[in-house]
Amino acid sequence: MYKLCGSCLKRLGLQGNPEECELCGNIFEKIDDLLNFTYDVEFSNFNVGVKLDPETLENEKKIIEELNLPGEKTLKRELLLVLRKKLKEKFNKEIEMEDPDVIFIFDLKKLKVIPENNSLYIKGRYNKYVRDIPQTKWYCRKCRGKGCSYCNFKGKMYETSVEEIIGEVILKYTKVEEEKFHGAGREDIDARMLGDGRPFVIEIQKPKVRRLDLKKIQSEINNDNRIKVSELEYSNKREVIKLKKGKFKKTYLVYLDQDISDEDFAKIKDFREINQRTPKRVQHRRADKIRIRKIYKVERENSNCLKICCESGLYVKELITGDDGRTVPSVSSIVQKDLECIALDVIKIHDR
Ligand SMILES: [Zn+2]
Ligand SMILES: [Zn+2]
Repeated sequence: MYKLCGSCLKRLGLQGNPEECELCGNIFEKIDDLLNFTYDVEFSNFNVGVKLDPETLENEKKIIEELNLPGEKTLKRELLLVLRKKLKEKFNKEIEMEDPDVIFIFDLKKLKVIPENNSLYIKGRYNKYVRDIPQTKWYCRKCRGKGCSYCNFKGKMYETSVEEIIGEVILKYTKVEEEKFHGAGREDIDARMLGDGRPFVIEIQKPKVRRLDLKKIQSEINNDNRIKVSELEYSNKREVIKLKKGKFKKTYLVYLDQDISDEDFAKIKDFREINQRTPKRVQHRRADKIRIRKIYKVERENSNCLKICCESGLYVKELITGDDGRTVPSVSSIVQKDLECIALDVIKIHDR
């Protein structure tokens, strides 16, 4: 017969006198000390994790097998139940299994508690009204952020970005240094993002504050008239994954260097499909392949401006120019003129 503690005897439904436990090492007696930890980061719900010594787990397996006991009432399960209950009392906060603000990991081998402060996610939509800032922070390609003569010792290629304008305000209120920006695709640096904006989620790692006044944050971000954010709301990791996978149609306004005559417009308005090889301008960072992309609608907004609705992943500037034969056919090849795109605006992301 094995020597077991009172908790293990009771849990496994065995009779006997409590002794120094060969199964758990009397872990339940050590828990109260561990529960004295402090955690001064704001949270409203939590979950618990338990890390056991592999040796303890082996022992438990052996004992359960040898005594032919039902295996479902494991030490780990019991510890989780006890710890959840005790922490609920300690902090007076709710347990959240799916999306907890924090997970308290009880390392029962090292006898310490490691709080895992989960990321905070805030979603919204952004507009970009200028043609000289990128969506995300763009580190200097020579020094990668350290600062060198190429980047004027700024460490980055552009003064700011949509990410940085939004991030600055959110970081101030969550009291952290860094964020991650997740956009539903991105527009070219020189393209504006108009209409009802582009969805994004900003992830704040290890936030010190989670309860935010999102209305106030939104209006503070919008003091910068280069961009606008709207519909700020709390989000989660699942929505980031969904956002990154999403392939949405887009509608653009494409400003050309020449007017489109009625005759030319008649030739391009029913044009529906292209073969597009990776454009020269992005070849250094994207795989070189040929994609078939659909065009859903071509309208004439005014004499030198086309409104084009097309498939996700279609390169619109090259749809106009043909990119030296890499996009076939193109608006230029159909009308047999060398057309240039002088400006581009995204006016709708068809995500809803
Ligand atoms: Zn025990
Ligand atoms: Zn540099």
